[in-house]
Amino acid sequence: MRALWLALAAAALPAQQKLPPVRGFPPELLAQQRQLEDKARAIPDGGRARAYMKKMAAVPHHAGSPGSKAVAEYALGLFKQWGFDARIEEFEALLPFPTARVVEMTAPVQFRAKLSEPVMAEDPDSGDAGQLPLYNAYSASGDVSGPLLYVNYGIPADYARLEQMGIAAKGKIVIARYGKSWRGTKAKTAYEQGALACIIYSDPRDDGFWQGDVFPEGPFRPSASAQRGSVMDMPLYVGDPLSPGWASVKGSRRIDRAEAATLMKIPVLPLSYADAQPLLERLGGPVAPEDWRGALPVTYHVGPGDAVVRVKTDFDWTSKPVYNVVATLTGSTQPEEWVIYGNHHDAWVNGAADPVSGAVALLETARAAAELHRTGWRPRRTLKFALWDAEEFGLIGSTEWAEQHAVELASKTVAYLNSDMNTHGGLSTGGSPLLEEFLRQVMRDVRDPSTAETLLAVREKDRKLRVSPPGAGSDYVAFLHHLGIPVLNLGFNAPGSQGTYHSIYDSYAWFTKHMDRDFRYSRGFAQLMATAVLRLSEAVILPHDLSSLHRSLAAYAEELKKAHPKLNLSPVTARIDDLKDRSRQFAEAYEQALPKAAGSPQLRALNQKLTATERMLTRAAGLPGRPWYKHQIYAPGMYTGYSAHTFPGMREAADQGRMTEAREQIQVLADTLRSFNEHADQVITLLNQI
Ligand SMILES: [Zn+2]
Repeated sequence: MRALWLALAAAALPAQQKLPPVRGFPPELLAQQRQLEDKARAIPDGGRARAYMKKMAAVPHHAGSPGSKAVAEYALGLFKQWGFDARIEEFEALLPFPTARVVEMTAPVQFRAKLSEPVMAEDPDSGDAGQLPLYNAYSASGDVSGPLLYVNYGIPADYARLEQMGIAAKGKIVIARYGKSWRGTKAKTAYEQGALACIIYSDPRDDGFWQGDVFPEGPFRPSASAQRGSVMDMPLYVGDPLSPGWASVKGSRRIDRAEAATLMKIPVLPLSYADAQPLLERLGGPVAPEDWRGALPVTYHVGPGDAVVRVKTDFDWTSKPVYNVVATLTGSTQPEEWVIYGNHHDAWVNGAADPVSGAVALLETARAAAELHRTGWRPRRTLKFALWDAEEFGLIGSTEWAEQHAVELASKTVAYLNSDMNTHGGLSTGGSPLLEEFLRQVMRDVRDPSTAETLLAVREKDRKLRVSPPGAGSDYVAFLHHLGIPVLNLGFNAPGSQGTYHSIYDSYAWFTKHMDRDFRYSRGFAQLMATAVLRLSEAVILPHDLSSLHRSLAAYAEELKKAHPKLNLSPVTARIDDLKDRSRQFAEAYEQALPKAAGSPQLRALNQKLTATERMLTRAAGLPGRPWYKHQIYAPGMYTGYSAHTFPGMREAADQGRMTEAREQIQVLADTLRSFNEHADQVITLLNQI
């Protein structure tokens, strides 16, 4: 069947037509690949994406709910209908649901926070049954009272400033605003500072009317809406808190809840700005520094004052089933090389944007592959499309799956592509530098959904395309940080996309009024991902590249030198200089090998070596104090969470003044880079043998 397809494809295009090169494809295969991609990009359809969203965002579908299981089964049915070998892979995870939630002021006046988001006539889903109430998952159970303190964003620097004012958090209930850092690190920092409980609220300056019109008029957060979310200590490890490092299949070993290091040790609850205002009004003490003030009509004081606040939380601490949907199209010539693309399917509530907008584009990408398959085409490599469960609680479905299949995944996966929210606007581009040049070419050849220009042209009006270092924002974490698989994390997102983030108003009504009204960004994203998937699956030589890695490492070293001028980084910078030579040799050898590669007896070994390249940046022992994180170049910052720290081993030691450890970590990194360079030499040798 393949031969027939190729003959048709070749016939459709004049052979002499000049096409820009595509990384990994020799000239004689270029026209055929272009035909395949054109055909694939014509398949995704906005109307279908809309229909999937209507269905998947129709009812609340948080992990552990009947809605989540129904969404998984719906997607499974689609994949099967399209001809995939699809199945649900089930795990179990500790998913605490709240049974008690109180935030109240008991003195000098009585006030009780509503902790609920009202039904809105303009949004029929806002009244759906089965909504998970406002809470922070993995908060401790507790009932505490104390004076209230405003801690700005609740990052360590804010507590240092309070200390300068002579104010300590010990014995107090702190109220922090969302923003600047991941919510889990706000709760952890509050605990480490001795706070009794942590309230996290959405200030309208960062997340509400200061940004623009609020829902229903605009996309931004209305006054009584708040942000649910996990406060798991994700920088330590992700996935089920009771099975760190191994898969939580039914009957597998679990640690005791008391031993689970990623659970918060104090009560944490989120508040809306309507609920927060009466509390902030009662704060005494000094007026807050100017950059600490939000947009509420009150004079922001730091506190404490005469306000006494009580926070009470309790949870149903049971483990619940988690349903991943995995659909496979087996490769024809290299079935043992896998291209995986995933997006989560669980939401906090209805989740039209987060995660359904990303999931519907994934479905249309998968359908494009399936349609091509129906015409007789088969991918060279194996394609896997995955919809993960329990991402919101702590990247659980993807992590348990990655732990379950760790050995196979690490040796077979050529790349993991991830998406999450996909609303409208510009393309955000996170990922491994090894895939940056690959991504640049994909963006060069795919059109922006709203202009006639290519995605690359649109992007490079502002700034040069660079992939940003991956932190802990979505399901790529286990693949990159734990297994050492190169990843890309992509999505269209514009200001306002987070306006109803993790609230009941992230709904079909909100999405179709204020985000991707005609689903052109769903279609456009599926076109982008179909192009990426087909290049990864069909490339004769894998498109991984060393030059952006070299440039990135050199930039990280510069950054570190600026932050810590006294550290002697020369053992590391010498290895980075070695890599510079190799990246040049690699580029030349790649160019030379490409026209001869198809059919070469060394090709399989070469692609296997390329697949293992990112893994050479990991160490089995992991990072100091967090062995689950194996990657030596990136990790989620211990106190930033979402955003990545580069060279995390030495960076964090140096930032926290542990200079002996920092020096040891410089040596560890230098050793890692030395073996990476040896690996690069082997790749170059193989290229030269082609
Ligand atoms: Zn999400």
